[in-house]
Amino acid sequence: MAEKRRNLVLSGLEPLIITPESVFVNVGERTNVTGSRKFLRLIKEEKYDEALDIARQQVEGGAQIIDVNMDEGMLDGEYAMTKFLNLIAAEPDISRVPIMIDSSKWEIIEAGLKVVQGKCVVNSISLKEGEERFIHHANLIKRYGAAVIVMAFDEVGQADNYERRIEICQRSYDILLGIGFPPQDIIFDLNIFPVATGMEEHRLNALDFFRGTKWVRENLPHAHISGGVSNVSFSFRGNDVVREAMHSVFLYHAIQNGMTMGIVNPEMLSIYDEIPKDLLEYVEDVILDRRDDATERLLDFAENVKGDGSKTNEAVIQEWRNGTVQERITHSLVKGVDAFIEIDVEEARLAAEKPIEVIEINLMAGMNVVGDLFGSGKMFLPQVVKSARVMKKAVAYLLPFIEAAKQVGDKSGNGKILMATVKGDVHDIGKNIVSVVLACNNYEIVDLGVMVPPEKIIAAAIEHEVDIIGLSGLITPSLDEMVYLAKELDKRNMKIPVMIGGATTSRAHTAVKIAPQYRETVIHVNDASRAVTVAGNLLDHNRKIYASDIRAEYDAFRETFLNRSRDKNFLSIEEARKNKLQLDWDNFTPVQPKVIGKQIVEVDLETLVPYIDWTPFFRTWELFGKYPAILTDEVVGEQATSVFADAQAMLKVILEEKKLTAKGVYGIFPANQINDDDIELKDENGNPLQTFLTLRQQAQKTKGAPNIALSDFIAPKESGKVDYMGAFCVTTGFGVDEWAAEFEAALDDYNSIMVKALADRFAEAFAEYLHEKVRKEIWGYAADEVLSKEDLIEESYKGIRPAPGYPACPDHLEKPTIWKLLNVEEEIGVTLTESMAMWPASSVSGYYFGNPESKYFGLGKIKEDQVIDYAKRRNVSTDVAMKWLNPNIAD
Ligand code: SAH
Repeated sequence: MAEKRRNLVLSGLEPLIITPESVFVNVGERTNVTGSRKFLRLIKEEKYDEALDIARQQVEGGAQIIDVNMDEGMLDGEYAMTKFLNLIAAEPDISRVPIMIDSSKWEIIEAGLKVVQGKCVVNSISLKEGEERFIHHANLIKRYGAAVIVMAFDEVGQADNYERRIEICQRSYDILLGIGFPPQDIIFDLNIFPVATGMEEHRLNALDFFRGTKWVRENLPHAHISGGVSNVSFSFRGNDVVREAMHSVFLYHAIQNGMTMGIVNPEMLSIYDEIPKDLLEYVEDVILDRRDDATERLLDFAENVKGDGSKTNEAVIQEWRNGTVQERITHSLVKGVDAFIEIDVEEARLAAEKPIEVIEINLMAGMNVVGDLFGSGKMFLPQVVKSARVMKKAVAYLLPFIEAAKQVGDKSGNGKILMATVKGDVHDIGKNIVSVVLACNNYEIVDLGVMVPPEKIIAAAIEHEVDIIGLSGLITPSLDEMVYLAKELDKRNMKIPVMIGGATTSRAHTAVKIAPQYRETVIHVNDASRAVTVAGNLLDHNRKIYASDIRAEYDAFRETFLNRSRDKNFLSIEEARKNKLQLDWDNFTPVQPKVIGKQIVEVDLETLVPYIDWTPFFRTWELFGKYPAILTDEVVGEQATSVFADAQAMLKVILEEKKLTAKGVYGIFPANQINDDDIELKDENGNPLQTFLTLRQQAQKTKGAPNIALSDFIAPKESGKVDYMGAFCVTTGFGVDEWAAEFEAALDDYNSIMVKALADRFAEAFAEYLHEKVRKEIWGYAADEVLSKEDLIEESYKGIRPAPGYPACPDHLEKPTIWKLLNVEEEIGVTLTESMAMWPASSVSGYYFGNPESKYFGLGKIKEDQVIDYAKRRNVSTDVAMKWLNPNIAD
C-alpha cells in the first residue's frame, strides 16, 4: 500500500490543510506585541476590542494563520494570552483561522494551549535548554494536539549556516519521532537572518536558508518550513520600497525551495513580477549573493527609491482628494469608493451647464478608464461591479436635477440592451453580471428578470426599442427555448441582434442550432468582459461588416461541425444492454440502511460553512483558480482576497441574522435493477413506490469496456438480493430573491450578486453535508469514513450523488420522479418549472448510489431507438421524449 498522505492539518473553526501541493501559507504578524507598537499599546491599555480589530483585519487581509505574541516585560503574558485567545474564540470571523501561539516562555504557551480552540501551532520550542526540556514540552504539545515550530537552535546556539541548520533539524526530528510526534506536525524555523549588512559573514544568510529548506524537505519526510520574513531586510529599515522587494524576492526563492509558511506582513510585500527590473536585479544580487559589490550597489540604488513608509491612510486619502474633480470622480469609480462620490458629483454639477453633462462627460470619462482596465485584464470583475455601484449612486444623485431640467429624453447612451433569462429557467447570476458590466459601459439595460416567456421578450424589445437582445440560461432545456425564440423573432421580421450566454450555451450550439433560425446576427458571448466588445461591434457604424463576418464564421463552423467525420459507431439499445456493466453480484452483500424511507432535514447554516467549496464562488466572479491558492495567486490573488473578504462579511450577516434557512428531504429505499435500465424502488414493506428510468451509453466501446447506465450500480432483481438507492433535494434559497431585491433597490448590484452566489454555495455545501450524513449514519455504509473537508470537496468518498441534468443522467424528466418519491414540494417547498429547473434557484437534487464501484460517467450521445423505448417506459409520447432528450440524440 502506498504511504498515506500526511498533510499538516490545522484548524480554527475551519480546517487549514497544508498538502505538498499547497501554496505558501501566510501567517499574520500584527497581533504581536514585540512587532507592533500599536498592538502593544492596546493590550497594555486593555483595549481588547481594538486589539481584536487588528486580528480581524489580518484575517480579512488574507492571513491564513494568526500569530499571537504577548512577550513584553511590562505585561502579564499568561493573563494577556488567555484573555485574548478567549475573546478571539467568540469572534467567528477571526477564529475561523488557526492560531499560532508565539512565546519564548513555556508558561505563556501553555496558558494559550489551555484555551485555544481548534488545532493550533506552538511557536516555538528548541534544543536550546537541552533535550530533557525539549522532550517534556514536545510531549505536552502532542498531548494538547498542537503542531509545533522547532527553532534551529541548540545548546551551543542558533544555527547560522547550512551545516548547523541540518545538524540541528535532523537531531530535533529524530528526537520528536522517537516520542511519537507526528512528522507532519513539525515545522522548522530555519532562522532568517539579514543580508546586505556590510558584513562578509552575512552574505550567505539567505542562500543558506534556501539550501537548508531544500535539505529538510528532501530528508525529513513530511516536515515543514517556516520563518519570519521581515528579518531579511533589516538593514533597509525606513526604506519600504526596497524592503518590500527584498521580502518578495526572498519568498519567491524560499518557496521554490520548499518553504511552506512564513510570518509576513502582506502590506510589506510587493508582487514579484511588478518589481522594477533594475531593483529586482540589485535585490536578487544581494539575496542570491551573485556579486561582491551587490550590497553597495543596492545601497546606492536604494537612495533613489526611498519610499515613504510613514504614509498613513489619511495621507493617502488626502492625496487623491487634492486632484481635480474629474480625477477624483475617476478615482472613486476605478477604486469602487463611494464615500465621496456625491460630493464630487455635486461639484461637477455646479460647474456644468446641464446636469446631464456630469453623466455624459465626467462619469463616462471615469467609466471609460474602468472599461479599458477591465478590457486589458488589469481590473477584475468584482472591482467592475463595485465601480458600477459607485456609478449608480452618482446617477441616482443626479437624476432629480436632470428631471428638473427635463432632459431625461436625451440621455444618449451607447444603446439599449434587453436582458432576460428564458422561460423555465431561474438562474440569473451570470445575466446580472453581464448587465452590470454593460451598464458600466453606458448601455441602458432593460432587465426582464428570470423565467421570461418568449412573447414577453418580443413585446418588451419592441416597446423599449432595444438595440440588442441578451438571452441567458443555465439548464439544457433553455437551449431549446433560445432556438424557439430565434424562430419567433425571424417570423416577425425583427431586426434586433441577439447575444446568447449562460452555462450550457456554447458557440457550437449557437452556430448550429440557433443562428440558422434567424436572419439577424446571433452571437455567443460567455464572459462579461467580451460582452462589452461584442455589444460595441454590434452597434457601431461598421456593424454590417461585423454581422456578416460573424455569419460567415458561424456558417463555416456549422459546415465543419455537420460534416465532421462521425466515425463513432452506435450500438442498438438491445446490443448496448447486452454489454452492460456486470458487477459481481454473487459476492455482494448490500448494506442495509439504518433508516429507510423519506426523512426531513433542517440544519444550522453554521454547520454548513466548513462544507463550502469556495472554488466555484470565485468562478462566478470570473476569477479562475483553486481556493485557497487563488487568494495568493500572482494575477488575481488581490482581487480574490478582496471579494472573499466581502463574502466573509456577508456570511457573518447571514449567520447572525439567520438570513437563509437550510431545508432538505431525502430517503434511502429498497431498490433493484429491472429490465436492465430501470430502478424499481419499494417501501420497507416491499410495496412498489416509483421507478427511475436511466439512460444507457450507446456509443460503441473499445474492446471490453461496458455500455454503462446508472442502473448497473444497483443489484438486479435476478440476483435475488435487495439493494438500496436514495434520492434527495436540499435548498437554501428561500428569501434570497427578496434580499437581493433589497440590494438592487439600494443600487447595490455587487451585494445582490453576492447574496445569490453565497446562497448557491450553501446549497452545494448542504448537499455535501447531507451526503456525508447519509454515508456515515442514515445508510451507514461508510460509518468509519474519515475524510478532510478537502477530500469531501474532491468527492473522494465511496458512492456518488448524480444529479439529473448532469452527464450521467441528462434526463430532466426523472426530476418529477424524485419530486413524487419524496413529496418534495409539500415537504420543503421547492418546485420545478416547466423546464424542470428547481425553484428557488439555490437548490440541489440528485440520487444516492452507495456501491463502491459506482462512479460518475458521461452518457454521451444516444440513438433514437433508445428515445422511443424511453418514451414507452415513461409513458409519454415520442415527441415529448424527443423534446427532452433532444440535446443527447446523435445527429
Ligand atoms: N463542490 C461542488 C459540487 C457540485 S459539482 C460545488 O460546490 O459546486 C459536483 C456534482 O455534480 C456532483 O456531486 C454530482 O451531483 C454532479 N455530477 C458531476 N458529474 C456528474 C455526472 N457525470 N453525472 C451526474 N452528476 C454529476
